[in-house]
Amino acid sequence: MARNPRYDVLFEPVRIGPVTTRNRFYAVPHAAGMTNAMPHMRAAFRGMKAEGGWGVVCTGYVSIEPGSDDSPLPFATLWDDDDVRSHALMTEAVHAHGALAGIELWHGGGSVMNRTSRLPTMSPSGTSWMATHVNFMGHQRPRVMDAQDIRLLLDCQAAAARRARQAGFDIVYVYAGMGYLPYEFLLPEWNRRTDAYGGSVANRVRIVRELLEVTHEAVGGKCAIALRISLEELRARPSERAASEAHEVVALLADLPDLWDVKMDSSPTDCPPSRFAPEGSHEPVIDFVKTLTRKPVVGVGRFTSPDTMVGQIRRGVLDLIGAARPSIADPFLPVKIEGGREQDIRECIGCNICISSWHDGVPVRCTQNPTAGEEWRRGWHPERITAAASAAPVLVVGAGPAGLECALSLGRRGYEVTLAEATDEIGGRLRFETRLPGLTAWGRVLDWRRGQIERLTNVNIYRGNLLSAAEILELQAAHVVIATGAHWARLLYSALEIPAGELSGAGVFTPDDIAAGVSLKSPVVLYDFDNYYMGSALAEHLAGSGHKVSYVTPAGHASAWGIMSNEQPQVHRALASAGIALHTLSRVTAFANGAVTLANQFTNEETRLECASLVIVGTRFASDTLHAELMTRAGEFADAGIHSVTRIGDALAPGAIVHAVYSGHRYAEELDAEPAAVPYRRDAPLARQV
Ligand code: ADP
Ligand code: SF4
Repeated sequence: MARNPRYDVLFEPVRIGPVTTRNRFYAVPHAAGMTNAMPHMRAAFRGMKAEGGWGVVCTGYVSIEPGSDDSPLPFATLWDDDDVRSHALMTEAVHAHGALAGIELWHGGGSVMNRTSRLPTMSPSGTSWMATHVNFMGHQRPRVMDAQDIRLLLDCQAAAARRARQAGFDIVYVYAGMGYLPYEFLLPEWNRRTDAYGGSVANRVRIVRELLEVTHEAVGGKCAIALRISLEELRARPSERAASEAHEVVALLADLPDLWDVKMDSSPTDCPPSRFAPEGSHEPVIDFVKTLTRKPVVGVGRFTSPDTMVGQIRRGVLDLIGAARPSIADPFLPVKIEGGREQDIRECIGCNICISSWHDGVPVRCTQNPTAGEEWRRGWHPERITAAASAAPVLVVGAGPAGLECALSLGRRGYEVTLAEATDEIGGRLRFETRLPGLTAWGRVLDWRRGQIERLTNVNIYRGNLLSAAEILELQAAHVVIATGAHWARLLYSALEIPAGELSGAGVFTPDDIAAGVSLKSPVVLYDFDNYYMGSALAEHLAGSGHKVSYVTPAGHASAWGIMSNEQPQVHRALASAGIALHTLSRVTAFANGAVTLANQFTNEETRLECASLVIVGTRFASDTLHAELMTRAGEFADAGIHSVTRIGDALAPGAIVHAVYSGHRYAEELDAEPAAVPYRRDAPLARQV
């Protein structure tokens, strides 16, 4: 198919300093957890985006010297010549598919803790990031940078830029964003200096100017120089000389970088979950940059719609369409638009599981794209899959995320697949969850798979088909896949932090009951020790339906795990604006006579809270009775032609949607393959001189 001429503008080449990108699709720097320790995985992950048509593909953050050590968060290094080869693997993979490779050189300044290098940290005035969440806290305060430290920073940037050029990069970054060192010079809270680097905006911007200059000089005109800068705080600050301090900063540097890469200041606003921010949410902060520079501007906004992308260019907001998440969810997004296949784009759902992977310190995982991070170690490809190794028909029971992904991927391999779903609607847990506040975009997990399955003639979906073990035995499937999901339990939570003690009886509910449409009486107490989105989203939903809601959790925050997915700050705002009272560090221990008893998690001190309906969002168990029933009849499998019965997704081990999709995909990839003791290739750093 030919591409829609409306999208032609997206395929125009753009000159960036001495290099030219083939189109306007720009995979911006983003952490993907693989670091120099997994150079082949990293190269394959980034190379896949180049294969998928991105014009520029960048690294994640790359430290320029050992005093910038973000461990345990996974960062890359370019500290010495031995690091060059590791990065060269990536540039080769990217160049092999005709894209440009960009490298984000980075110094963390006062926001890192140097936990591995154990060197003193540094910042403009000895200020450090005082995060209130434990995974970002640290106890070492930075030293105040003196003239020698400033020289060190500039020299390390220049040396890293020279190595970047040696490694084959086409675009080299100066990174002045997200609380990192050059950004710290820009804001007076971080920068209280009285020398030429502090005070006026022109002074505060000096270090960025010098970093740009030394980088230019180091690459000898061979690479483009990009400036990545956070503008959210600066834009909010009035200036006597311009519309805001952000305007002043951009005007002062105007044409010095070859490319402006503009962004927000903190991960929750830069990379907000779709639950709280729409596509293109940066625009009000970055929309002015193009009016002050002649150089191209790239920015992000979870762009997945080509019409929105064209709009950004036509309206003069951006020159290049930046993407981190959309390029993870669908590395082939540009190729699909190019081929007139927009409907095939596997759109990012904005769940931020990818970001949680970085916070977890592991290689990237994606809810929509189970092959992300698995390109090298498992040989998975987002668009291609090995042909079927047999003609064995497969029955998949349950059309939730696991069953849908499994049926689709088996269908792509060429297997004859029957997908049976008990209810009249496919989607499993998504049927209800996508109706919760902010979760509509998660419906893309279902929509994309439904659309793809509809094109396959070898996958047939049977809705309204609640299968029993006896029926399965009659269906003559060689392989039976049980994807029947999970259910929520009415268990409470013990002082040992283990689910224990069932609370049944009138007025006690789980999310399954709400999904089934029960009506609750107010006041409602929502008791959450699942700690992910369900508790807070359900609380919002119930408050939105007119209930008086209190939210109780043994954790210190609402949706405590949401700090990992950038949700937590907005969760607290959403609960507050919905008038939901918050009770943290509290366990529900009893429910009687119109009230629940709460015990403080640490002191056990008891209080009572008025309650007509208690909703427990605690733990889930696999809905595996069908599997158990089937296994009691294993003796009949041979006569029924059944070679295997396998549970996948929540029916095996309840998890988030990302786990279910991955489980379904892995089953499909591995059917008829020889099982291996270690199921994937293990990457290793390239040998260095020791
Ligand atoms: P997962 O996240 O693992 O995909 P879900 O709970 O989202 O799990 O989906 C499980 C699906 O399985 C639900 O749509 C449910 O209706 C369906 N299901 C459960 N039992 C049966 C059965 N016996 N026959 C057919 N479908 C079933
Ligand atoms: Fe998008 Fe979620 Fe995938 Fe991240 S994990 S790229 S937010 S779908």
